[in-house]
Amino acid sequence: MAAPRTASTWGAGDDSVAVFENWTAAEERAHTDRIRGYEQAKFDAGWSALNWPAEYGGRDLPISYVLAFRRTEEEFDVPRRTEMFSVTQQLVAPTIAQWGTPDQRERWVRAMLRTDLIACQLFSETEAGSDLAAVRTKAVQDADGTWTLDGHKVWTSGATVADYGVAVCRTDPTVPKHAGLTVFLVPMDAPGITVRPIRQMTGGTSFNEVYLDGVRLTDEHRLGPVGKGWPVALTVLAAERLDGGNLGLANADRAVELARNLGRELTDLERDRVADLVTRSYVQRIGNMRVAAAVVAGDDPGPEASLGKLLATDTMARTSEVARLLLGRELGADSGAWGRYAWTEHLLGAPGYRIAGGTDEIQHNIIAERVLGLPKEPRP
Ligand SMILES: Cc1cc2nc3c(=O)[nH]c(=O)nc-3n(C[C@H](O)[C@H](O)[C@H](O)COP(=O)(O)OP(=O)(O)OC[C@H]3O[C@@H](n4cnc5c(N)ncnc54)[C@H](O)[C@@H]3O)c2cc1C
Repeated sequence: MAAPRTASTWGAGDDSVAVFENWTAAEERAHTDRIRGYEQAKFDAGWSALNWPAEYGGRDLPISYVLAFRRTEEEFDVPRRTEMFSVTQQLVAPTIAQWGTPDQRERWVRAMLRTDLIACQLFSETEAGSDLAAVRTKAVQDADGTWTLDGHKVWTSGATVADYGVAVCRTDPTVPKHAGLTVFLVPMDAPGITVRPIRQMTGGTSFNEVYLDGVRLTDEHRLGPVGKGWPVALTVLAAERLDGGNLGLANADRAVELARNLGRELTDLERDRVADLVTRSYVQRIGNMRVAAAVVAGDDPGPEASLGKLLATDTMARTSEVARLLLGRELGADSGAWGRYAWTEHLLGAPGYRIAGGTDEIQHNIIAERVLGLPKEPRP
């Protein structure tokens, strides 16, 4: 068992605060296997999937147990899950549980919760990001029921290590765009799939372009009814919005520890910024607690669920600013000191979360329209 990470163990263990890892392809594979090993051990010991039914390897416990376990786990120096793991366990597995046939549920849900299989999101395209329903990747069904997929996806996180991709495809170009979509679970090693990594400003290549050229799939790979791809995709996106509320909090706490362990007095400005970060990250935490309380009570989370991701990206930006202020020139070159230069990866990665999973502007639109009910200018 890893030792708890406390103020007194500052300086020991992994000092990464990366938002997107700066790994080579071989490192990404090795780290994914290491995290998978931890997730599998946790699952087998009964500490994963706590709120899932026993048929999927869960323990049927209230969600409050999940939240309590997560809080405790954060205090330990355990392998940090990359985005792929939350996509697989928190987004894709529940979507298959909701929309899948009994066979699909049996084949994929438990395997994804245990991370025997890892999934990526084949949603965005060059002309379909915020406007996801504009996707152009085509799926055409033969007389024998087989589907052929052709198109080009982009910004796919983890495509090089994923076993399956959840692809939103156009199956009927003649109906209004939201009605002509269908979702497929695509094996990432299927003939016709080419993955090309995209270099990010963090130095890493955690996202990719994915080309689908004549990819042949049996109808068992279709998730949900033909033409119902939009509600299936919304199930994934709603889970992403709920899951996003905790983003950035662990690194905000780490920035506060950095201020405590800097080895010098802080200036008034530095103290002010650290206190501001703590205050705002508590607002984020309180919002999350209200969302969690609603989920625990079986209610729909209210407006707080829409605010969570915006507050999270704000926390991330303020965390970067605190690290920049405290470390100054130490961010310019790696002195080898624990927990110093590592912050460059936070500074370069945090802005990406203003875009991923729905941009800040799109989150504002959602709040304006669905939470505040503000009048909307009719589209031409
Ligand atoms: C780190 C990262 C990881 C990602 N991972 C994945 C992944 O795994 N799978 C996947 O499918 N996609 C992924 N994406 C893609 C992400 O979902 C899209 O980048 C995002 O939805 C925005 O789409 P876009 O890039 O096409 O920008 P656009 O939609 O073209 O937007 C461009 C700008 O216009 C603004 N804008 C657009 N429409 C409106 C509007 N109606 N009102 C106001 N402003 C508007 C946007 O806010 C933005 O500033 C990832 C992106 C990032 C940055």
